[in-house]
Amino acid sequence: MILRLDSPVKTIKGVGAKYAEIFKKNGFSTVFDLLLHFPVLYIDFSRPAARVEIGVKNLYHMEILNFSLSRLYGRKLSILKVNARVGKDNVLVVFFNKHYMADSLKANQKVYIYGTFEMRNNTCRANTPLLFTDPGEEPVIPLYDKIGTVKSGMLKKIFTLCFEDLRDRFEFLPPQILGKYGFPNIVEGLKSIHFPSKVDPEELQRLKRRFIYGEFLFFQLELQYIRSVFKRVPRINRYAIGEGFRASLEEVLPFRLTPDQWTAWEEMAADLNGDVTMQRLLQGDVGAGKTVVAFMLLLTAVQSGFQGAFLAPTEILAQQHFTNAKLFFKSASIEILTGSTSAKERNRIRRELEEGGIDIIFGTHALLNEKIRFKNLAAVVIDEQHRFGVSQRAALYYKGRSVDLLVTTATPIPRTMLLTLYNDLSVSVIRTKPLGRLPIITKLYESAHRDEFYRWLRTEIEKGEKAYIILPLIEDSEFFTELRSIETETGYFQEMFKGIALGVVTGRTSSEEKETALNDFASGKTRVLLSTTVIEVGIDVKDATIMVIENADRYGLSQLHQLRGRVGRGERQSYCYLFASPNMTESGVRRLKTIASTTDGFKIAEIDLKMRGGGIITGFEQSGYLDFKIGNMRDDHEIFNDAREDAPLILEDKSLQTSPITRFLYKVKQKLQDINFS
Ligand code: ADP
Ligand code: MG
Repeated sequence: MILRLDSPVKTIKGVGAKYAEIFKKNGFSTVFDLLLHFPVLYIDFSRPAARVEIGVKNLYHMEILNFSLSRLYGRKLSILKVNARVGKDNVLVVFFNKHYMADSLKANQKVYIYGTFEMRNNTCRANTPLLFTDPGEEPVIPLYDKIGTVKSGMLKKIFTLCFEDLRDRFEFLPPQILGKYGFPNIVEGLKSIHFPSKVDPEELQRLKRRFIYGEFLFFQLELQYIRSVFKRVPRINRYAIGEGFRASLEEVLPFRLTPDQWTAWEEMAADLNGDVTMQRLLQGDVGAGKTVVAFMLLLTAVQSGFQGAFLAPTEILAQQHFTNAKLFFKSASIEILTGSTSAKERNRIRRELEEGGIDIIFGTHALLNEKIRFKNLAAVVIDEQHRFGVSQRAALYYKGRSVDLLVTTATPIPRTMLLTLYNDLSVSVIRTKPLGRLPIITKLYESAHRDEFYRWLRTEIEKGEKAYIILPLIEDSEFFTELRSIETETGYFQEMFKGIALGVVTGRTSSEEKETALNDFASGKTRVLLSTTVIEVGIDVKDATIMVIENADRYGLSQLHQLRGRVGRGERQSYCYLFASPNMTESGVRRLKTIASTTDGFKIAEIDLKMRGGGIITGFEQSGYLDFKIGNMRDDHEIFNDAREDAPLILEDKSLQTSPITRFLYKVKQKLQDINFS
């Protein structure tokens, strides 16, 4: 059977119902989806390193001398020690918890390993490298991150079968673009990415560019098309911003607003008195106090007889804002609508929004549902903008007549990038944090001191502190053995913090469980929260004062900054402890030094942009900058700009619109038309 790029994954030979289900669950429905799952690494067997290079990750050909297997802790753990020779050097290779490997090893056998040697007690030693007993005929083996439970080796088999049957001349880029950048056609490009005949990083990068470009181009086509429709419109709603607004605010607030918060408000008030609708981005570092400024907009709307809406990216955040709002909006009628609101509640809320019984609605994506209508929606706040696509922004916008819009972002986006992303928005910035906050103290640690550190942390928690501990992975990765995972480490922490309640949250935790875990941590029922980077955005637990990040060198600067911003939100001194991975890359070292040297988010964002690239984890849970599948705004900035410049040309010139582009634009148009004008 011939496969096409849009054939369902189950039509690939070797993909049965079980795998098809796993792929689907992980977002891979078509052959094309699956083929965009690029290798994370290539092993080039034609070029093993001739001799040991300490501290450098390499492929080595080694001869096994002898090996021994020992079990620890009632057989739960195992250590396989292999004495071997690489060239003339004697080495020790140690595998943790891979006891089954002992069965496939023999003395005098020649094998390949991919890993890093270190000197420890005068011994040249590598921990749990990848091992290949028989690489077969192929000179280059691609390695993949697993998809669900489907591991690299199986994925490679599936891809091999897939290319045997794949015949497709489908193309979504216009020929002029292919020519301009020298891009290969799709199937050829994919094949060379998955099965290159040699590892040539530059060539591979050139091939990948075409797919990254494609992703960015479609994003830009949608963005720019919507922008051409979604313009500022003449103002209809008139607000009453009275003289007493400031005084009445200071009465309800438990604190005084900072000068930057007032300036942001004044800029907003000027928009609200202007002739066209407001479209403003409120930018401010984590903990800068954006929420109260957003609430001021909603309050003004209500005081002027209109409705307001507050859209949050996650259920937890919607709930958190709603709880704060109950204290802030004493006399307004407020409600919350999320995916977990019962059908009955939803119907009631819908009715009351239409009749005007509700003044302000808080919620998640559920608010964008086309059935939700408002009596007189005038002000919309969208929190943490980069999580939402432009068309979603448009969706709420169109629910009112000439709506005033405030989007907030905690990512301190550098100016250059601001223009590319949000050039239709005016910008207010809150630079200075509320007084009384002590800057977070950041310290770097080596993983050798890990146990000692956690024993100390235990005493701090016993004294009443609360801590977040961030690990990069949910479960162990075969290829990134130096990265710690929640699955493997939970036992360690339970043991270490025996008697102290511990919460766990990952991207796989259901939203109810996540909410419970976060509430427990906020209330103090748990005092340690073990988490992946899902915790990154917006969570506000004031008395959490300690943030521990393991494998910290593997994150981008902005992400580290976001994570660190989870603490230091109250008046107590907060600390951030960063653990380095063994064998840090140079850029990893630089990132950690940078983050330890400053807490200024804007400065960090600028440096981040300059330092782009270099072993940063992307795509594990969140890429940090918008949610692209293969591209990354930071690493692929130039390609992003190419796509941004090409998009208007394609939108203007129909001869450049391939049929996939035409279809795509048609869908975008439909989407906009389906949105109700109330
Ligand atoms: P973000 O900008 O990250 O959204 P928040 O709006 O959640 O920050 O504010 C962080 C914390 O600071 C909140 O607990 C909030 O109540 C508090 N806060 C906001 N403004 C002030 C202020 N002017 N003085 C003191 N605390 C403030
Ligand atoms: Mg916030």
